[in-house]
Order: sequence, then C-alpha cells, then structure tokens
Amino acid sequence: MSDDTGARPATERMLLDPEEIVARQAYDIPRVRLPGRDTVFRPRAARLRTLAETSTIGDYLRFVATIADAQQQQLDSYPALPLPPVERMEQNRKFGMPPLNAVSLQRAPAWRTILRSLLTTVLHSELPAPLRVTLEQFATQVDDYFEAQASKLLSANLQGLNVAVAPLLAAALQVYFVGMASQFTLEDVPALGEASLCPCCGSRSTASLARIGAQEAGYRYLSCALCATEWHMVRVKCTQCLSTKDIHYQSIDDGRPGREHAVKAECCDACNTYLKILYLDRDPNLDACADDLASVALDVLVGETGRPGCGVNYMLVQGETAAP
Ligand SMILES: [Zn+2]
Ligand SMILES: [Zn+2]
Repeated sequence: MSDDTGARPATERMLLDPEEIVARQAYDIPRVRLPGRDTVFRPRAARLRTLAETSTIGDYLRFVATIADAQQQQLDSYPALPLPPVERMEQNRKFGMPPLNAVSLQRAPAWRTILRSLLTTVLHSELPAPLRVTLEQFATQVDDYFEAQASKLLSANLQGLNVAVAPLLAAALQVYFVGMASQFTLEDVPALGEASLCPCCGSRSTASLARIGAQEAGYRYLSCALCATEWHMVRVKCTQCLSTKDIHYQSIDDGRPGREHAVKAECCDACNTYLKILYLDRDPNLDACADDLASVALDVLVGETGRPGCGVNYMLVQGETAAP
C-alpha cells in the first residue's frame, strides 16, 4: 500500500466502509489502543528534539520537548493516578458516555500538584524572559483559578482562557488523563456513539495515524489530544462529519528521501475541514503531537484555501488572551 488512493484503499473501502465493526471482527484488529506509561511522553520528547534540528520553529519544539520530559517525570512519580468512583464510570458507560468524560469529570487534586511540579521544572530551564515572567505569574495562582482554567480548556471555552500558559495547563491534565487511561483494559472503554470523539475521555483528536505492525498494518487510528488513547476509524473517511465522499489529500514535500509525504492533510469537501494523517510506514517515529506541530507549514497551506483544521493540539492553543 502506498497511498490512500492506491490499490489497498479500494479493497479497504469495499470491505470496511459499510460496517466498521464487521471489519474489526474479520481482521481482529484492536478497536482501541490504550496509552502505556512509557509510550507517550518519552518518545514524544525524543521526536520533538529530532524534528527541532531541521525545523524553522526548532526553539518552540525544544520547549515542548522540555515539557514532555517533565510530563514523563511526573507520570513516573505516580504509580497510579486516582480514578473516578467506579459507579460514576459505570454510569457514564451505561449512558454511552466515555468513562473519563473530561468535561464532567471531577478532577482529583493530584493534577494540580502535577501542574505546580511541571511549572517548577520548566522554570528551571532556559526560557525567553517574557515567557518566564508569564509562567512565574501563573505559578502564583490559587487552586480555584487552575480549576476554572482547566474547565475552560477542556470544554473548549476560549473566553477568559489564558492562552499563553495553556500548554502547561494542558500538559498537567495530559499526565493526569494518560495516567488514568493507562490503568484501563479494552473492556473498560466501550465504543461511543460519536465516532469523532475519544471513547476514553471524550476529547477530540490531534491527528490520525496509519499504523504499521503485524495486526494493524495500514489501519487508521485517531489519536486523542488529551489521554493519548487511539481509536480505529476506517481510512478515506472524514473524521469530523464521517463523509466518505470527496475526500482528498494535501501535503508538502519535506525533502526527506524515502520519507516524503509522511504527513498529509485529509481534506473533506462535505464539511470543508481537514485533519492530518501520519503514515508510520513512511516514518515509524511519527508522533501525533510532535509532527502536528512541526508540520505547521501544511496548516498554513491548507488554511489559505479557507479550510479550518479540526485537530486539537494543546501545545498550540489559539484563542483570546486574558490576564491571569
Ligand atoms: Zn482521550
Ligand atoms: Zn467532513
């Protein structure tokens, strides 16, 4: 298989598009890939540093790598993040909601301890002076402020969200949610009615990944921006409106022989949005968060056609800025 318009997708469409669940039974591919404690932040930090070497936004990628290192350090210091009450998660599942529904979940105080530790670590690194002042000011805030900001971020309410520090806020929440999700088994995460949202925490995806591996080769998974759970969705299908018509791809030649076009924008004419798709057969080290950031030129290219992206990357939150 070489492309979404190549030989394999035609077969894939024929076999998979009508009933995804039938395909899953036929091929026995995992419906969900849960995050591991070592599979998210450590490889992300390494990937960010590799990408930084040739990127025009290298300094920012290195800053996010510092955050990812600190995230791994925090996750390592919590053998188990506290899960919500079992009855609450059961109730969510019963009503077709994700067990760790990020919008309604009553967060354990641990996430704020993680946030304060992340801030301390990042403030010990080299930072541009204005960013240092912003983060120092943020670090003095009270718990209620952090909770209010977290609620805004998780419900995508940008009004009053302090965008300048949102990556640090999100980084703490990612550690908390990855830590919880990594304790689940597949049975804990039933399928959602809403295919565009993470079945574990209900958040949106950063990008999708066409995977490699004996069982999953060529199958596409959406990568959750918050808890890093991946969930299966057939290829050549809009991840936003689920249309299978008028899907096309845009990419930029990144000049890496043998690894060209490892990141593409999957564009849908039905809802006029796009989400990036990362092809691990072209580069096995691709990371949804890192490669989405590093391919910002592709966002500019696709954005010029008036098509908004539907992916969420918490390391690049855009919106209204408010004083802390
Ligand atoms: Zn999630
Ligand atoms: Zn669409």
